[in-house]
Amino acid sequence: MIVENILTVDLEDWFHICGVEELVPETSWSQLESRVVENTKIILGILGIKRITATFFVLGFVAERHPALITAILKGGHEIATHGYDHRRVYTMTPDAFRHDLRKAVRIISKITGLPVKGYRAPEWSIRDDSLWALDILQEEGFQYDSSMTPLPIIGNPAYSKTPCRLKLEHGYLWEFPPLVASSPLINLPLGGGWGLRVFPYSLIQTTIRKRNKRGSPALIFLHPREFDRHSPRLKLPLAKQFVVTARIERTEKRLHRLLEDFAFTSVSQVLGKRNNCI
Ligand SMILES: [Zn+2]
Repeated sequence: MIVENILTVDLEDWFHICGVEELVPETSWSQLESRVVENTKIILGILGIKRITATFFVLGFVAERHPALITAILKGGHEIATHGYDHRRVYTMTPDAFRHDLRKAVRIISKITGLPVKGYRAPEWSIRDDSLWALDILQEEGFQYDSSMTPLPIIGNPAYSKTPCRLKLEHGYLWEFPPLVASSPLINLPLGGGWGLRVFPYSLIQTTIRKRNKRGSPALIFLHPREFDRHSPRLKLPLAKQFVVTARIERTEKRLHRLLEDFAFTSVSQVLGKRNNCI
């Protein structure tokens, strides 16, 4: 049986980077050049040729300014989920502020698509031990799944599930879809997206997905439109952040092509529709 893996895109602009709020404050966003439409069209073009359906976690700020882009994504047959409104890490918000941010994003997105929003991904995988309350809010707000908990140290917790699973909450259930990581003797390695997908050898990523699929479980890959833009404006970021954002950025497009050649991919909702319990 061919296991379908999960392809996701965090739909945000080049300046939506966590932890650099003093360099690019939210009040400056409207004055900055937007490159998200052109960059996303590159991704849509690749997926269209390969006839692949993906999940786009749309930032409310972007949907508000580029409604035609959201319509184009929907017309491409893709799933529209949300990345919140203004790209704040969940653990920096109060529960009330999180609910407000979520509702604002959902309102803007649903007005464009005419559809309910069933999935959420937090900026920088920021649902972690100190913000698990957000899962209950997602469930209360009618979300079916979350993709915000990474089994990595510091930004997440290595003890979190490496495969999709159904979380039992106080008043119901919520599916959790973690990004692909590889176990290694010292530390779990981030292979599913960002710098990990660009920097680690492709053979390691390929082997890890194959092993995962052999057990009947899908791997989740995540992309950002800015990773398809070699001429993106550059910010003077701290060295570690510079690495995370730009290291081997020229590889992204090629890596996506290879993944789509080697493996089957679809959206979160397609995978979810075929399953009942743990995947
Ligand atoms: Zn983001």
